[in-house]
Amino acid sequence: MKLRLTDLYLGFNKKRYHFKSNDLPDKGITFIEDQIYCDLSSKKNKNGYFISGKLLAKTECECVRCLDKNIIEHALTINFYLVKEKKIENMNEDIDSISFNENQDEIEIDDLLTDLIGLAEPLKPLCSDACKGLCSVCGNNKNSKTCSCIIPQRNTVWDELKKIKIK
Ligand SMILES: [Zn+2]
Ligand SMILES: [Zn+2]
Repeated sequence: MKLRLTDLYLGFNKKRYHFKSNDLPDKGITFIEDQIYCDLSSKKNKNGYFISGKLLAKTECECVRCLDKNIIEHALTINFYLVKEKKIENMNEDIDSISFNENQDEIEIDDLLTDLIGLAEPLKPLCSDACKGLCSVCGNNKNSKTCSCIIPQRNTVWDELKKIKIK
């Protein structure tokens, strides 16, 4: 997605942008819908612009226990600076910033948006905390039906000790 410098110059408040998820760089995120929405506001400052707003996207994650697909509806807060090239070194590092040249027509922010979504994805997604996972014998999803598989018990050191006592 690109922001036009002329729009930034004029300023905007909660402007709705939409763009295609296919246009974002591939960072292993599975998008459910091909449209992603942003509501963005721009404020001018002495180094460039401060952009804030929200990003709305739906992604899909696989439960690590049962491998079912979960849909995650992201509503993420966006905050970043667009900084004129010469001014970039004196920026606050707590907030992302993208440098631009005043001769550019547009500034691309795809990388920043993709990273924002990537960071919001759960590391170990679960369909629910109570997910029972898959049966390790037959592969059945234990959330939807029970199976009668018996999970073989392995002999332990303690079993060996019991045998010795009996002798
Ligand atoms: Zn699950
Ligand atoms: Zn089973």
